[in-house]
Amino acid sequence: MTTSGLSEPKPENLINASVERVGNKNRVQITYHLTDLSDAPFEVSLPPDTTLVSKTGFSNQTEYDYDLSWDHSTRRPSITFAFNETSPPPGKSNVNEPADYGYSDTWALAPLPEHFQPHVNPQPADEGVAGQNVVFLGEVTVHERATECHQIRLVIPEAASLSLPPEDLLELLAGTAQELDVGYRHTVVTAIASPNEMSRGGFAVGPDMVVDDDASVESASSGSMWIHEYVHTRQGMALDPEMEWFTEASAMYYQYRLLYEQNRISRAEYERFLVDASRAARDDVVLANNTSWHDNSEYVNGALVLAALDYRVRGATDGNNSLADVFRLMNQYRGIGQNDTVTYSTFADTVANVSGQHMDPWLAGHVRGSEIPRPGEDVAVTTLEGKVYRISDSPVLLWLGLFVLVAVLVIVSREE
Ligand SMILES: [Zn+2]
Repeated sequence: MTTSGLSEPKPENLINASVERVGNKNRVQITYHLTDLSDAPFEVSLPPDTTLVSKTGFSNQTEYDYDLSWDHSTRRPSITFAFNETSPPPGKSNVNEPADYGYSDTWALAPLPEHFQPHVNPQPADEGVAGQNVVFLGEVTVHERATECHQIRLVIPEAASLSLPPEDLLELLAGTAQELDVGYRHTVVTAIASPNEMSRGGFAVGPDMVVDDDASVESASSGSMWIHEYVHTRQGMALDPEMEWFTEASAMYYQYRLLYEQNRISRAEYERFLVDASRAARDDVVLANNTSWHDNSEYVNGALVLAALDYRVRGATDGNNSLADVFRLMNQYRGIGQNDTVTYSTFADTVANVSGQHMDPWLAGHVRGSEIPRPGEDVAVTTLEGKVYRISDSPVLLWLGLFVLVAVLVIVSREE
């Protein structure tokens, strides 16, 4: 078994596939190296928002829900597709915003097809690195680290420019993997620094994550986009619509919390994030109802609710348990059978199990209602040693308070 709970493919079942660019534009060809011509079905789906340019050895007659089916005429079937099209795909009137993927004369960052057969191993025919769902074609340097829970492959394209040395970034990712004890994990995570200007700072799909090389690596004001996307690779749970907010809320919460836990931002800076989040939290947002979301409220309000919940769980268990324990139990619901998703009540029960007490009214108010946690009242900082700092207890304010008190005493004593 792999650490993600899936059986390791037997080497003879592995299907090698080579990926290459066609010309220097937005076209990619993938060729499958099938070992026999038996009747086993082999079906492929084009990545979302791409168009088929040509195919060899595939028909459109599919048995399952895939776009193309191997027609058994060759052991080297292939497809060529275009991504980031500048004209609308057939049947659509809008051009998709070229947000996630990109290319230049010397490199391409492209999506990969989905396969019915799970054991496909895509490899660039020339320079580059392929994950399971994303490929970078072009000159790269790869930095690898084996952590206790998995292998991390950090891919730095020649065309990308990072604000700190790759070894430091690898250290941040390895430290994050170490701290984030939430179960579900892929055997290998491929993290690519994108030279492409992305309209969002990054994204993650399965075991692959891509982060804009300009995005924050570790910053007190904007957290770490690298941690954010890494957290997404650890979310194996299937969520009911009422719990969808947890995806971005947990990624945003941990993009700050894990910087703090790794001593990369100070406690005061972490407090600042909580205070700023509470100021930025949107009114009239019900996390459980995604039609009420607006202006990234599932991130901001969601992260604040999880910060408050983490504090409550730690407080209820003398620091023995935390939100990560809730996260880990949620990760056991994979959407495989019936009732295998995290509903709101699964979540509330899990919180009760982990913290040893029901928090139903609080959860109902903050998840099914529009209450916003306030620092000092129901959000505080719990250190790794279990020490609790109320936001207003911050030493700066204490010293300021003392200074004022002394000044007043001095003035009062002089008046006599
Ligand atoms: Zn996200």
